[in-house]
Amino acid sequence: MQVSENTNDDFLFIDDSDEDEILDEGSADTWKVLIVDDDPEIHSVTQLALSDLTVLGRKLEYLHAYSGEEANTIIAQDNDIVLVLLDVVMETDDAGLNVVKHIREELNKQDIRIVLRTGQPGYAPEESVIKDYDINDYKTKTELTRRKLVTTVYAAIRSYQQITTVNESRKGLEKIINGSANLLELHSVQEFGQGVLDQVKPLLHGFESGLFCARGHGIIEGADDLDLYVLAQENRSQDFVNQKLDSVASPSCAEQVNFCFQQKKHITTDESLTLYLTRGGYRAVIFVKLSAPMSELDEQLIEVFLSNIAIGYENVHLFQKLRNAAYKDWLTEKPNRLEFLNRLDKFANGGEQDVAALVDINHFSDINDGLGQEVGNQLLLAVASRLSDLGDDVVVARVGADVFGLIGPESLLCPEKLASLFSTPFEAGEQSLPINVCTGLCRKADSGSGGVKVFSQIGIALNLAKKDADVHYKYFRPEMEEETAWRLGMIRQLRTDFAADRLELWYQPQLDLVSGKVTGAEALLRWRTEDGNFVSPAVFIPLAEYSGLIIDIGDWVVEQACKLIKQLESQGFDDVGISVNVSIPQFRNDQFVKKVISTTENYQVEPSKLELEITENILMDDPQMVIDSLAKLKDRGISIALDDFGTGYSSLSYLQKLPIDRLKVDRSFINEIAQPDKSLLADTIIGLGKQLNLNVIAEGIEDKDQEQHLREQQCDEVQGFYYAKPMPAEEFLAFLKGKSES
Ligand code: C2E
Ligand code: MG
Ligand code: MG
Repeated sequence: MQVSENTNDDFLFIDDSDEDEILDEGSADTWKVLIVDDDPEIHSVTQLALSDLTVLGRKLEYLHAYSGEEANTIIAQDNDIVLVLLDVVMETDDAGLNVVKHIREELNKQDIRIVLRTGQPGYAPEESVIKDYDINDYKTKTELTRRKLVTTVYAAIRSYQQITTVNESRKGLEKIINGSANLLELHSVQEFGQGVLDQVKPLLHGFESGLFCARGHGIIEGADDLDLYVLAQENRSQDFVNQKLDSVASPSCAEQVNFCFQQKKHITTDESLTLYLTRGGYRAVIFVKLSAPMSELDEQLIEVFLSNIAIGYENVHLFQKLRNAAYKDWLTEKPNRLEFLNRLDKFANGGEQDVAALVDINHFSDINDGLGQEVGNQLLLAVASRLSDLGDDVVVARVGADVFGLIGPESLLCPEKLASLFSTPFEAGEQSLPINVCTGLCRKADSGSGGVKVFSQIGIALNLAKKDADVHYKYFRPEMEEETAWRLGMIRQLRTDFAADRLELWYQPQLDLVSGKVTGAEALLRWRTEDGNFVSPAVFIPLAEYSGLIIDIGDWVVEQACKLIKQLESQGFDDVGISVNVSIPQFRNDQFVKKVISTTENYQVEPSKLELEITENILMDDPQMVIDSLAKLKDRGISIALDDFGTGYSSLSYLQKLPIDRLKVDRSFINEIAQPDKSLLADTIIGLGKQLNLNVIAEGIEDKDQEQHLREQQCDEVQGFYYAKPMPAEEFLAFLKGKSES
């Protein structure tokens, strides 16, 4: 371009510029400039004057209007116009000013730059108009030399660009603010990640696809490693969500994300952007694939965005923690009772699984007390992990201290599979612990309608399984509910009647087979309800055991027995002892031994006159504990008898270890003892007792033949209806008196 300093002419736009610095490199994009003038010559001269101009890398493109009205139409239609070179006086004196008003007020286009031009100085608009309507420049046509025009246009377009940049970043910030607010409402880390990608997408012009990655531990079920997982994705064809990043993403992407995570800083390349997000120890990486390099504005916005959402990221983690605390077991990280109830709800309401179960570890508290809580915890972890071996389709939850909840298909969740699972010991710390469990199960067909209902149904089955010495599992059957209701009613009644002193202790004499003398009596509970009917001990003793009521009742029995011993002594029968029956729950009570001893002391009873009858089954539970307790009682001189011998499970090795004085041969062996070839078992038991140097008593003798046979076997003592049925204390006294007189 040629330079001439000609400023003094009417000739418009004389070439007067050599300022090459405003001529930039060209690009395909253009700036649209609208020339509005009723004089066609001005159009061509203007175009000519600006013909070489390039502003910020773009050439100019011209639109033409020859009246104010035409200008309005074009501006309304074309959104890309950046600058209007506007003649003031056209069809009317203020046609140009009307266009200005139209642009700013009606079309509400604030970005468009406006340069007013007029032939006559007299038509200059008020200064206020220039200010209010944001007019870039006002020049008379004579003032506008080419150089000035170029400068004016250049400045106007630059300011247009600045305004739009500011506007864009304002819009970006608005997006960030709205986005951050939205993100605060999201409660899962995955949702949050998705929200972040949704917000990042419009902020980055070259956004092609994105991944939101973080450690899955505590967020994704079963993710117990420290690896990065994909928590959310955007514009990806395959579903990566909740999967390990390394196993789904391309190696370069995985490497970049891992690197970013380790280095704790963003990584920018022309093709991708890897952003590091952190707050409060919670970290994430956002990977964005770009179709075009990021602009500076993009970069600034993304920085602001990240610092804005970091707090949301921390929040969502804290929320997840709360959720975990509410729905996850702290120790095993399995669903807890609350969550199990939710799963049961689904199970009961058409879920796909067939069976739900509760598995209870037998004597867990003994392990916990004996080996310490740490070992107890490790055992629970080992059990949780082994239960998980049932398969991915089986839900494993911890619903109580030592109770696990399971839901699964019948093929995987059945008593046989569980039995084999628990057939080998569990490693807990240094220990290798064999454990037994009881299981309650409920098939979908039998289940009630809600989670809570099913839970109580499985609970019923579990409780029955615990009571069953043979099989350690039970499937829930609808009748069980009625039985349970009946049982609870009975227990309530028993409790009331015991408190109202309606239980009685009756006594069945025991006699020396040689001398025929009464050596003692077995104390047997009788329960006469308010209506006068007796409930059999075979019915109510198990209920008392089940409810724990047997502990108080048992104390009362021992006390009654001691009282009677004293009463007998006072009446001259000082060689008559009393046997009382003792149940398993009494032994489990750690106060039991102490209480028995103190009762004998309180009543000043000669300890050997009190005998405790235990059954073999008592040993199944915790043999060592029972043996220790018995030894303590024995030390004090209290007698011990092994009741119902031969019907239970005890092994001979235990029999030798037990500090017992007497063997009671069970009635079932005596029944047929007099029949030919049916006495073998009874004879063997009696022989065994003799060999172990124990006193042997047979119970349930009903006739003379049975007595005769026992005499031949040299059985020491007898008890049975043949001699006397159980009777109240006064009758027993009378019975004794009658005997001593005869
Ligand atoms: P057990 O200890 O084996 O008591 C003997 C049972 O056999 C008693 O039944 C007694 O009445 C019955 N019996 C005795 N001789 C004969 C006979 O010749 N023929 C027949 N058919 N039966 C005979 P009972 O009183 O119904 O007691 C049943 C069970 O209830 C007892 O069996 C015992 O295990 C339990 N029990 C009774 N009282 C108590 C108690 O105070 N505490 C505990 N823990 N259990 C008790
Ligand atoms: Mg007995
Ligand atoms: Mg018995």
